[in-house]
Amino acid sequence: MFRKSWVILVFLILIGCLAVGTAGQNAAPIDSTVVESVGTWMDTLPEWDGTYRRIRVPILMYHYVSEPPEASDDTRITLSVTPDMFRAHMQYLFDGGYNPISLYQLIDALRTGAALPVKPVVLTFDDGYTDHFSTVYPVLHQFGFTGTIFVITGAPDNSAPGYLSWPQIAEMAESSISMENHTRDHIDLRNQDYDTLVYQLLGAQESLLAYTGRTPHFVAYPMGFYDEGTLEILRTMPVWGALTTQFGALHTTDRALEMSRVRISNETNVAALAALLQTDS
Ligand SMILES: [Zn+2]
Repeated sequence: MFRKSWVILVFLILIGCLAVGTAGQNAAPIDSTVVESVGTWMDTLPEWDGTYRRIRVPILMYHYVSEPPEASDDTRITLSVTPDMFRAHMQYLFDGGYNPISLYQLIDALRTGAALPVKPVVLTFDDGYTDHFSTVYPVLHQFGFTGTIFVITGAPDNSAPGYLSWPQIAEMAESSISMENHTRDHIDLRNQDYDTLVYQLLGAQESLLAYTGRTPHFVAYPMGFYDEGTLEILRTMPVWGALTTQFGALHTTDRALEMSRVRISNETNVAALAALLQTDS
């Protein structure tokens, strides 16, 4: 009798866990340690099985993770999270059972229904600043988290001060970080002619491939700007997803070129991050 009730109890707990885990997302929850089929990069777009899916995954958007120098302008200040605050954010995710995933895992889930870990989140870092190597990279490594850095490839091409170098980019690409496309020169992609769009988007693809050995498959629109002409070019490229700066955490199979994100600013303390992670939009 004792044994029978024990089995029933375990069964009920399992059902309870499943019910909680499936709330708000289509992918079945499984232990994060089991999800190894898709890593931080792959070169074959998962074949779509014909099912449209809607999955809630907050894609956090960071820029600088460093103390703004004295006399910084408002943009630099607003776009900066201090290293201490960044560590506190990652600690919060770790303690809260969040599981940072790659955009490759997200696209796989949207197209094939591949399972995602519980409480998935994507960590993105725009522009490719040196602090992404000196601070973000070791902190992510410490927590065992993956992240995605959107590189403005003209910056390392010109050894621009304050930006990542190609060797740093190549080293991170070899580890658990996805190095993706943020165009060559960070221009407004609206109302541009074909040649300019190809130069900016395909040029950045080719540079990243040349230095990392991997074709990037994701783009972040500079300043969040894009138009129909931008989308048309992207559809002819091996780009599987593109990220806007529009607020939201819901992603659908048919809107992969217009994925929303959750902006992190200098005012995003841990309590604010906790609230942002709960967004239902
Ligand atoms: Zn940018």
